[in-house]
Amino acid sequence: ELAFHGTGLSKIYQTGETEVHALRGADLEIPAGELLVLLGPSGSGKSTLLNIVGGLDRPTAGELYYGDTDLVALDDRQLTRFRRSNIGFIFQFYNLIPSLTAKENIELVTDIADNPMDAMEALGLVGLTDRADHYPAQLSGGEQQRVAVARAVAKQPGVLLCDEPTGALDSKTGVRVLETLAVANRELGTTVVIITHNVGIAAMADRVLHFLDGRIARVEVNENPIAAT
Ligand code: ADP
Ligand code: ADP
Repeated sequence: ELAFHGTGLSKIYQTGETEVHALRGADLEIPAGELLVLLGPSGSGKSTLLNIVGGLDRPTAGELYYGDTDLVALDDRQLTRFRRSNIGFIFQFYNLIPSLTAKENIELVTDIADNPMDAMEALGLVGLTDRADHYPAQLSGGEQQRVAVARAVAKQPGVLLCDEPTGALDSKTGVRVLETLAVANRELGTTVVIITHNVGIAAMADRVLHFLDGRIARVEVNENPIAAT
């Protein structure tokens, strides 16, 4: 079963006179339940593809399906609904609300989600039940990102899209954040896509898509992905 299926995906950004070809005809298959890593130089099109897959942006050309749903055919409202019900996003900077505790930051999402898990259960998954009443400023960077993971996971989305989730963290702290993503993948069956520059992360993935100049230049399959410890 495929979570996503795309063909000939391209994206041209028009800025004034200049056109930037961010994606040049990428074909994409993401099986449901996969842990997938997108690797490649800066500017090679990884974020563009992630944003298109998550319904934050639209391709200039190409086809893209989520299961049987034709994402290209959806109007803006339908695309927003698709995103809200199915996608959890995690970015480099945690975007927690400073005036709310860890638990309240998660409840902001679970209060409006279709099928949420309890905020405390989500904090348990990332090992932070004892930080529920802490404000972001009272948490380390790694802990803040784990709260952001809990917030994304609490919605119980089918897919977690992560754009350099450990980019602002030291490697030891980053590993603990990745473990929480691996837990969501293994224990909840969530499809997880991670953009990273870190080759160590790639060793955890089922597959790695290597990007170059707006194309998926190579697909690497890990028969035995290294389990996060
Ligand atoms: P990566 O994630 O691999 O670093 P991106 O997908 O962010 O690559 O960018 C691919 C190319 O598209 C780059 O040349 C980038 O400058 C350009 N680009 C990305 N977003 C925009 C945008 N909103 N407007 C114009 N150009 C963009
Ligand atoms: P982690 O490995 O999760 O990043 P650290 O070892 O950096 O955690 O931090 C340990 C503890 O110190 C955390 O539980 C946190 O409460 C506290 N702490 C870390 N950084 C800060 C900070 N900038 N402000 C307040 N407390 C902090």
